[in-house]
Amino acid sequence: MDRNHPAFARLPPWVQSKIRPQAVETIKKVWDWVETECVPAEPIMKAQLANDRWKTPQLMHDLRAKAKAAGLFNLFLPNHFKESPGLTNLEYGCCAEIMGRCYWAAQTMNCQAPETGNIELLAKFCTDEQKAKWLKPCMEGTMSSAYSMTEPDRASSDATNIGCRMEITDTEVIINGRKLYGNAQWNEDLGIYILMGCSDPNNPNPWNRHTTVVVPARAPGLTMKRNITIMGYDHAPEGHGEYVYENVRVPKENIILGPGRAFEIAQGRLGPGRIHHAMRLIGQTERAYELALIRCTDPIKKPRGKLIGEFDSNIERIATMRLELDSMRQVVLNAADTMDLYGGKAAKYVIAQSKILIPKMAEEIINECMQMFGGQGLTQHTALPEMWTYARFVRVADGPDSAHKHQVGRDQIKTAPNIRERHKKYQQIHKQLCETHGVEYVPYGAIDY
Ligand SMILES: Cc1cc2nc3c(=O)[nH]c(=O)nc-3n(C[C@H](O)[C@H](O)[C@H](O)COP(=O)(O)OP(=O)(O)OC[C@H]3O[C@@H](n4cnc5c(N)ncnc54)[C@H](O)[C@@H]3O)c2cc1C
Repeated sequence: MDRNHPAFARLPPWVQSKIRPQAVETIKKVWDWVETECVPAEPIMKAQLANDRWKTPQLMHDLRAKAKAAGLFNLFLPNHFKESPGLTNLEYGCCAEIMGRCYWAAQTMNCQAPETGNIELLAKFCTDEQKAKWLKPCMEGTMSSAYSMTEPDRASSDATNIGCRMEITDTEVIINGRKLYGNAQWNEDLGIYILMGCSDPNNPNPWNRHTTVVVPARAPGLTMKRNITIMGYDHAPEGHGEYVYENVRVPKENIILGPGRAFEIAQGRLGPGRIHHAMRLIGQTERAYELALIRCTDPIKKPRGKLIGEFDSNIERIATMRLELDSMRQVVLNAADTMDLYGGKAAKYVIAQSKILIPKMAEEIINECMQMFGGQGLTQHTALPEMWTYARFVRVADGPDSAHKHQVGRDQIKTAPNIRERHKKYQQIHKQLCETHGVEYVPYGAIDY
């Protein structure tokens, strides 16, 4: 590996040493792809979208066909799946950062959210018959999918609250309820909603009340009321919908894994997705940082006759942002490696660490970059406002960071009894040492054992 290649230069040595030769080649290809086919084409994609907000631009179709032919499709699917192109979570994490440099680059490689989580779900839990219907077209990129769990009238971060009613008969599932989020029905590429609903509300075990079912995107009775914007952005042409289900009927064979098993599915879905979002955000933040460096050294804009990079406060800002970005990468790649070595369950804490720390830090860094850019940094003259919005929404998407903090905090408090025992032993030895050395024993605080 050429450690000075821009795709590897900022990876810590422990990561560089774990990347296999075949993955080195893939990561380099992803770098070349994003740098030459995506970043320079950003204004073209915007212009094509302006013509028709809810149609996937021709450029996106063309790039997807080209990326697929170049073997750059579905790289995210980890190597324990038989359908996987063969990367580990750690190796894919390095690719995801590069993809994040352009907001839509991941989509050219069929590696965008929520498609990645959905494909992983379908690969993990579907029967061969179901895989042929839904997994195959999603992986081939001829159809896209949405995940639909959140509801407007429920606290959906606690999914036991999900209320969309599913009545399961001998032959079909009848669905009634409201949903918020999940890609817009208006885009013709969207083929299915993977829907979580409540099929057994009286089951004494709240974790067995819910079912996951696949609903065709244009099933009779399913209406998208409107597109919801994210801080003013419509996120076209995929968007986010607000939906009403009125007696929507789907065959019983569309149930994934079985009635009452939605939590087994939901729990497996989000771990890798959180790592992907965090790595892509690091890529976006690196681009924001590059803009700040460019503005710092711009010779035509000199307040008080100085480059803004000559003011001490900005030199410090640049240093702090660099240090933070490099530590963010360590956190997320550690989570990816833990998943590879010990599995998703064992990686729970490090995934939460990524989910909590990265969006918040990215939000702060991009905010500083906007500040350094001045007035233009808040306008469409730069991509900084969109980057900042991305960082901000990842604090909520895939579960709010507060819920993860709650879990981490509760787990930490459970460690207190063991720590207390250890401190008790220190105190006992301390007491003996006082006797040996003839020093008066003074217990500290209220902890006198
Ligand atoms: C851009 C974007 C895309 C999304 N895409 C999808 C999608 O494709 N499919 C889908 O189903 N959903 C999607 N969502 C929705 C998202 O997953 C939910 O908004 C999220 O899970 C929170 O649920 P809620 O909005 O019902 O908030 P609530 O559950 O009502 O929570 C509200 C707030 O309460 C606080 N809170 C909650 N739990 C705790 C806790 N344990 N401790 C302390 N505070 C807590 C948090 O501050 C939280 O933000 C998307 C959201 C965004 C922003």
